[in-house]
This record gives sequence, C-alpha cells and structure tokens, in this order.
Amino acid sequence: MSKSDIKSMLPTELEASLAEMGEPSYRAGQIFTWLMRGAPDFASMTNIGKSLQQKLDERFYITVPEILRKQVSKEDGTIKYLWKLRDGSAIESVLMRYKHGNTVCVSSQVGCRMNCAFCASAHGGLIRNLTASEILDQVLFSEKDSGSKISNIVLMGIGEPLDNFDNVMKFLELVNHPDGMNIGMRHISLSTCGLPDKIDKLADYNLQLTLSLSLHAPDDKTRLELMPVGRRYPIREVIDACRRYYEKTGRRISIEYAMIDRVNDSDEQAEMLADIAHSISAHINLIPLNNVEGSPLKPSRRINQFIKTLEGKGANVTVRRRLGGDIEAACGQLRKKVTG
Ligand code: SAH
Repeated sequence: MSKSDIKSMLPTELEASLAEMGEPSYRAGQIFTWLMRGAPDFASMTNIGKSLQQKLDERFYITVPEILRKQVSKEDGTIKYLWKLRDGSAIESVLMRYKHGNTVCVSSQVGCRMNCAFCASAHGGLIRNLTASEILDQVLFSEKDSGSKISNIVLMGIGEPLDNFDNVMKFLELVNHPDGMNIGMRHISLSTCGLPDKIDKLADYNLQLTLSLSLHAPDDKTRLELMPVGRRYPIREVIDACRRYYEKTGRRISIEYAMIDRVNDSDEQAEMLADIAHSISAHINLIPLNNVEGSPLKPSRRINQFIKTLEGKGANVTVRRRLGGDIEAACGQLRKKVTG
C-alpha cells in the first residue's frame, strides 16, 4: 500500500481515516494542529501515543520541503526561497514585507504550460501540479524559517493556479482553517491568465479572495503575441467570465498589465484598457516589466503617460512596487530549476 499525503487532508477527512483505523475523532484535531504548525514527523506529536504514531507512519507521509537556496534582498528585505520537494522537483516562493503585513507569493505548479512571452516560469513546460500540502508548505516554512508572521498570500508564483484547480481549492481551505494558519480569504489574492470556465467554477464557491486577471493587452492581436492562451479564449470571453464573477461575489477584480515598450503601451491601448476595466468595474494594476533573460521585450518608457490616459477616462490605477529585483524575485522571474 502506498502512503497518502496527510497534510493535504482537512480535519473531517482525517476523522474519517481515523475512524477506519478504529481511533477516536478527537485525534483528528490534534494531528491537524501539529501539521499546520509544520511538524516534520509523527514522532514529534507528543500528545499522541507511540502506537498510533507508528500506525500513522505506516499509512501516511508528511511533506517537508528542503531549502536549497535562500536569497535575501539588500534593497528591501524580500526573501526568495528555492525549495526541494519530495520527488526532487524544485520550486520558488517569495516573502515580501509590506506595511499591511508579510506576504508570501506561492507557486502552484512545477513549471507552467501557458508559455507567456514575458515570463520565465514556463521555460521547460509543465512538469506537474503541486499538491495542496506543497502549496501550504511554502507559507508554513517561509514563516518558520524567517520567524516573520505571515498575514497575506498571493497565488502569483510559478504556475497557473486555475490549471491546478482542485489542489488550489484544497490549499485555500487548509490555509483558511481556524485551527490552522487561519488566514482570511480577504488576505488572499489569486492571479490567473484567464480561463473562463475555471473563473466560473471559482465564482460558484463565492469566496472573498481577490481575483487578479493577467490581461496584458486590450486587443486580441497583441494579447496573442504575448500569451498563447489567447488562442483558446478571446478577451471578450475572459472578460464576460470576470463580469459574472464580480456579479456573483461582489468582489472587484484586479487587472494586471505588464508595461512593455512599444507592444502594449500606446495611448490608444490605454483607452481600450480603460473601457474594459470600466465594463467590469475593475481596478488596474500596472506592472513595470521585469527583465527576463533571453527575452527581447523591454520595459515601457511611457508608464506615466499611460496612467494619465487611463485616469483621464476615470480608471482606477496603481503601479506595482517592484520588490526583490536584485535577487530575481520579481514578477515573472521565478523559475523551477536551479539555474544561474
Ligand atoms: N499564471 C498566473 C499566475 C502568475 S502571476 C497568471 O498568469 O496570472 C505572475 C504575474 O506576474 C502575472 O500577472 C504575470 O503576467 C506577471 N508577469 C510575468 N512575467 C512578468 C515580467 N517579466 N514582468 C512583469 N510582470 C510579469
């Protein structure tokens, strides 16, 4: 019998497994509490008897990522972790320090299949989905290692979270659980390249998290040059799904837009972007393009003018602060391998 991943289980699921083993249900709460504190093995669960520890060890494993590399930014204290997972895969996450609290940017997949032209994460394609426990571990062990209490999470690391829907949903339940890290949905953002059917599915859960849409171009022709996913889903379909999401959840969507020199930074494109944002009452978050090795795309030099045009049309705009630039921890710079 192969072992199961116990940290991907909710207390109710633990209870069911324990019942099968003839154990009382209160044990589930005890075990869950240990797991959510990052216990590395069953032997460290001191309020559980030796014989149950052994029985658990026969049936389950506990994921414990290993820190392969830790880089601390001299500019702003941002920390980038490279983790080694159980199967030897490596992923990155980033701990950022904001006034409103410490935020971890987590990866949801090993690699990515979206292949956006400006992003390093897809080099080499998708290897596999992360389990719920592997996504959670990035938060748990960043907190443990850094000693900094984590209050916010952004699903903006490597991978497309909605392409790993079930595990991401399970992760959200775990990290939000009152007996676990208890991080509120309003402190969590999920960023997607825009998969309409999955946005609809997410809307059905009616969560209070912030949904961010990586739009990056207001017209299909430009978007397709940057994001191959545009071939499957034209902007109109994505925006319609976002509108349904907003109507259902009442949560304002944030549109992410990386500013690229002479690709998506004209006044005309600003006007089109303002119209799109207005049509779904979205907020616009401009991201200065971060350099990605081997990419011919350059950062826009027209950000201020672009903002003026957007604001002239009544749009609600902010520019994302760039953190961890000196350690390649900024948006689009995370990759799955130990390179360079
Ligand atoms: N797959 C999801 C999650 C990744 S989030 C998504 O597409 O949204 C990472 C954010 O950083 C996305 O908005 C992504 O488009 C953006 N990004 C990627 N590469 C970038 C770069 N080189 N400069 C600035 N932003 C980038």
